[in-house]
Amino acid sequence: MSSVIEIRPAAAACSDPPVIRERGQREVFCGLTGIVWLHRKIQDAFFLVVGSRTCAHLLQSAAGVMIFAEPRFATAIIDDRDLAGLADANAELDRVVTRLLERRPEIKLLFLVGSCPSEVIKLDLSRAAQRLSRSFSPRVRVLNYSGSGIETTFTQGEDACLASLVPEMAAEPAGAPASLLVVGTLADVVEDQFRRLFDEMGVGPVRFFPPRHAHELPAVGPQTRFMLAQPFLADTARALEERGARRLAAPFPFGANGSAEWLRAAAAAWEVDPRQFDEVVAPKRRRAELALARHREQLQGKRIFFFPDSQLEVPLARFVAAELGMTLVEVGTPYLHRQHLADDLAALPAGTVLSEGQDVERQLDRCRAAQPDIVVCGLGLANPLESEGMTTKWSIELVFTPIHGFDQAGDLAELFARPLARRTLLKV
Ligand code: SF4
Repeated sequence: MSSVIEIRPAAAACSDPPVIRERGQREVFCGLTGIVWLHRKIQDAFFLVVGSRTCAHLLQSAAGVMIFAEPRFATAIIDDRDLAGLADANAELDRVVTRLLERRPEIKLLFLVGSCPSEVIKLDLSRAAQRLSRSFSPRVRVLNYSGSGIETTFTQGEDACLASLVPEMAAEPAGAPASLLVVGTLADVVEDQFRRLFDEMGVGPVRFFPPRHAHELPAVGPQTRFMLAQPFLADTARALEERGARRLAAPFPFGANGSAEWLRAAAAAWEVDPRQFDEVVAPKRRRAELALARHREQLQGKRIFFFPDSQLEVPLARFVAAELGMTLVEVGTPYLHRQHLADDLAALPAGTVLSEGQDVERQLDRCRAAQPDIVVCGLGLANPLESEGMTTKWSIELVFTPIHGFDQAGDLAELFARPLARRTLLKV
């Protein structure tokens, strides 16, 4: 496969560092992966992948097979007859959906999730969703988005899913007070922690998107201020802005500093008294710093290499460098969204090597030459690198694990410390 590499000349400010841009072979999962955490979050939603047996295998191995619970995701398999154009895929889809919704009255929101095969045969899932919505409205809303692996990364599935929900959000009523919308899937426990902190500061009303139930979809409009909790939601942010909402700029809430600065952005928009902010935030921040200190001892000075995978790389690089004293060898990210990442980019050490996109062989060469202490990468690269003696961390684990906020700062640091400790034990 051909590849392109382009290195922009060094620029002066830390927020505008040189970037290695590569377009070559990539090693990433597809957007179907997002179903694993999205189906846990929206408790009355069902995700029906319109795909192949490969898609079904990917989902089952990523999410685990649920034997006792009624699963809230499934794959409608496109078989050879569909691929050959011998069957009416739309009629079959209608039949599958009708049977599913008759059997499962608790489903209130159904996502038809596109895949590589459905895109290849150009199955129009948006029309299918409209048609099925008409049939099952008002009991069930049917939406669609693409989770295909064609030119995407695994966290884009969530972005596409949330972006598909934005047109479903009601318009803010006239005269509504300013409200805060936290955007990006968070574990319920993290959501509750943030909600308490916002309440104590007097910031609100606060809503979370996606909600836990389909009927709790928040309203949106010019009085909505939103904060991203995840750095991979470019399309969702754009869709919210088109509805009049305004984004509050902040670093992402990882670690003690990241969480404090993220909360400070909301406090500033609500003109919270700085003393009140400190009263609420300082004790939590101190506890997080103490939790980090335990791991800092082990991680300080350790050299870390990020392969592009989750799009969390830049904020996590900021966290490990600024809060754990680690040395950044290379920070790869599938896409570099300069606006959303501005505060994290500005806090990276001067001279940080950033790369956007991937040419996996070239990047592996750079990684082998650098011999970092730890490599953060996708599952496909982790085993080969481990067999070469490198210590790795699966980037997908950083998405599956609650890592946002003060109370999770220590756990986040531990995710980097544990593989290094394991390697040391293996060497003894
Ligand atoms: S959507 Fe594409 S990349 Fe993902 S499992 Fe299906 S075929 Fe594979």
